[in-house]
Amino acid sequence: MPHPSVTPDHASDTLFDLDTLAPTAPTGPSDLAPGAGPLFRDSAAARRLLPVRDIYAEPAAAASPRGRQVIERFPGARLIEVDSHWRIPGLYGNEGNVERWVRVKGETLVLGERKTLTTRPNGRSADWIAPGFSNGCAMACAYCYVPRRKGYANPITVFTNIDKIIAHLGRHVARQGPKPEPNQCDPEAWVYDIGENGDCSVDALVSDNTADLVRAFREWPTAKAAFATKFVNPDLLALDPRGRTRIRFSLMPADDSKLLDLRTSPIADRIAAAPDFLDAGYEVHFNLSPVVVRPGWEAAWAELLRHLDDVLPDRVKRQAAAEVIMLTHNRGLHDVNLAWHPRAEEVLWQPGLQQAKRSQNGAWNVRYRNDVKAAAVRTLRELIEAHAPWLRVRYAF
Ligand code: SF4
Repeated sequence: MPHPSVTPDHASDTLFDLDTLAPTAPTGPSDLAPGAGPLFRDSAAARRLLPVRDIYAEPAAAASPRGRQVIERFPGARLIEVDSHWRIPGLYGNEGNVERWVRVKGETLVLGERKTLTTRPNGRSADWIAPGFSNGCAMACAYCYVPRRKGYANPITVFTNIDKIIAHLGRHVARQGPKPEPNQCDPEAWVYDIGENGDCSVDALVSDNTADLVRAFREWPTAKAAFATKFVNPDLLALDPRGRTRIRFSLMPADDSKLLDLRTSPIADRIAAAPDFLDAGYEVHFNLSPVVVRPGWEAAWAELLRHLDDVLPDRVKRQAAAEVIMLTHNRGLHDVNLAWHPRAEEVLWQPGLQQAKRSQNGAWNVRYRNDVKAAAVRTLRELIEAHAPWLRVRYAF
């Protein structure tokens, strides 16, 4: 699950004429193509989610092996040079209507280089938040905080200097040494969240960045990658993570998801995929999030938990754990959503239940009042105990 802060990168001073790019060099075999059948990312369904027409690229990013790989994947796309992936006039922001934003999310990619390589402590979902290899998302969840900085029309930015990100992480992992004692993140491994500001499963439709991280972590016996996802990408099954990547399928009642999780995989598909991912070598956890308090929410969550109990095999249940995360919202996002998806705001915006808090950057963030939140967490824990007692709650927040 993404976490609420984005470190702005800065513009590259290097200018490069994209029209004079030499013929692309081979980027090596894709980790997603171990000689098996066709890849999902080449399917009609994947192309429908990402019918890329425009690629905005910093010159160095476009010229890099990873940048070339992405550009080659979308040969019909127009390449547009930009000084900085962070400042693209006319692309970001909330101007226009939702059709445009949703189109932008699917039809546009951005290539940039990540300048700030910082691993931050977390302690809740993961021990550490890794510097992300992407920012933005092709999906359009109404409560998503990832676009708060760039505006709702925030398509995927692929950071092409994945080698530097991996080298940074390798040094960080080495510096930590073995984990001295178990904690709720993991009993043995240092857990690094690699998907703070996007969805790694969708990123894997665009580039091999996700594959490269999964491959890197399988070589680090004291560490484990983790990311939350709302998208089932079967290509990830071929990556052979050897237990060093935890995938967390985000779940909420199906009716809430249909209203709030636009362009994502249906909840039943995410649940049905869990055994396949476990058998492919992933650790499979669940994010029960965001929990949205609305009339009838308790019965809807009970039904979801019963469904989990009915369909998941024992081998998934034995290793499963969950994070419970209550909805947080934002005044600015509320205003944006009112203009295109007011029905979502009928459940997300509940001033009678919520309290506002001014964040460091001056935005008004909104969360359930302490008493409402405590009661809801208690109720959800009771529902888990009643309907899915095998599901260990790692933390509830
Ligand atoms: S899947 Fe939804 S919540 Fe996650 S980054 Fe994408 S839009 Fe945001």
